[in-house]
Amino acid sequence: MSSIQVISISVAYYLLHNTIQLDLHLRRPHSLLQLFLIAAFASLVSAIPGGLVSQQIFGNSYLYNASLWFVAEQLAYSTLLPAMLCAPRFTPYVTRHLFFKLKSLNRYQWAPFLALCCSAMLGLTLGGTGAVAFPVLPLLWCALSYSLFCTSLLSLLFVGWTLCLSAIGIIPSELSLLAQDESISLHLGILSIALAPMVTASITASRNDAVRKLRYLAEHDSLTGLLNQQTFYQQAQTQLDWYTQTHTPHCMLILDLDHFKQVNDNYGHTAGDLVIQTVAKVLRAELRDGDIAGRVGGEEFSVLLSDCDPTQANNIAERIRLHIAKTPITLKNGHVLQLTTSIGIAHAQKTCELNKLLHKADKALYRAKANGRNCCHIYNASQDKTILN
Ligand code: GH3
Ligand code: MG
Ligand code: MG
Repeated sequence: MSSIQVISISVAYYLLHNTIQLDLHLRRPHSLLQLFLIAAFASLVSAIPGGLVSQQIFGNSYLYNASLWFVAEQLAYSTLLPAMLCAPRFTPYVTRHLFFKLKSLNRYQWAPFLALCCSAMLGLTLGGTGAVAFPVLPLLWCALSYSLFCTSLLSLLFVGWTLCLSAIGIIPSELSLLAQDESISLHLGILSIALAPMVTASITASRNDAVRKLRYLAEHDSLTGLLNQQTFYQQAQTQLDWYTQTHTPHCMLILDLDHFKQVNDNYGHTAGDLVIQTVAKVLRAELRDGDIAGRVGGEEFSVLLSDCDPTQANNIAERIRLHIAKTPITLKNGHVLQLTTSIGIAHAQKTCELNKLLHKADKALYRAKANGRNCCHIYNASQDKTILN
């Protein structure tokens, strides 16, 4: 019997090995169907010889033995595989993270699991045919509340629990594993119930992925991958509120490429786009964790620097300016461009209003352009107000 199972597991392994990663992690609505078909094929491989072996040991018809073997294998594969495939890699970091998440669950988040436990206890107390279906609702609740891995694990527990109830006779004997016709039906019933929450969780997971992708597209600029104007302003305002509460010094930079129109005019828009992408890469490389950057105009970028006084902001801005000036951009036709940028810097003192901070940084940028470009300028209330207002 064990050699039959080794062959069956090898077939399942081979088929899974040739399945694409996305389906292995059940991240697409049809992934579970694919897994179910693989499980069915592997179960069939073991059911054909397994039926013969069982016939010789237990008697009964070949068809009955092969069918029972098939549904038992299908049940095992269909519940074990999702839990195994969706399991995270248990590195020390992931284990700590999971432990922390478990500890921080509030009572509402525990509710679906507790409901499942209650339904299991109710099944044990009341028994009867209906006991098989008691956990359906809590399982679906779990599927909508927990991760795919967690739902798969709970479905697996449900299957184990129900088979135990059946084996010890809590579920009536005509449904027990010993009753011929009904045992196949019981296995199929349990399988259908166990698959329902997994299908729900799989569809929910794929929807969540789609929502995450849509949110990313809505919040980021498609050319550079930086935050778009609206999201930058939203996040900057949230950060500013936080900095004011915690008295954290912060500065705003506005960068504008020098004579960028000439790039478009001389080399075309595609070349201009390449320049914008290169500047975004430089920004990403130069900024620290906690700083936020966005593309707020055609070739205009804003950066909110956290925990930073004007001198430090000037150093960072100078670093960015030099990095851009020293980065050659090779176009498809072989031309090499060397661009410069002007940067306006504003320091938020008492006020945390985003508009005022941006306005000051803009005036400082204007001053940097007026000073001959390829330089940084820190907003100075006495100079810039009178000259630029
Ligand atoms: P200055 O030194 O004064 O900043 O001169 P400039 O030529 O850079 O002037 P300005 O900042 O006004 O130029 C903005 C140009 O950016 C105008 C527009 O054609 C171009 N632009 C805006 N968005 C895009 C874009 O997405 N791609 C490309 N290639 N060009 C863009
Ligand atoms: Mg501009
Ligand atoms: Mg410009």
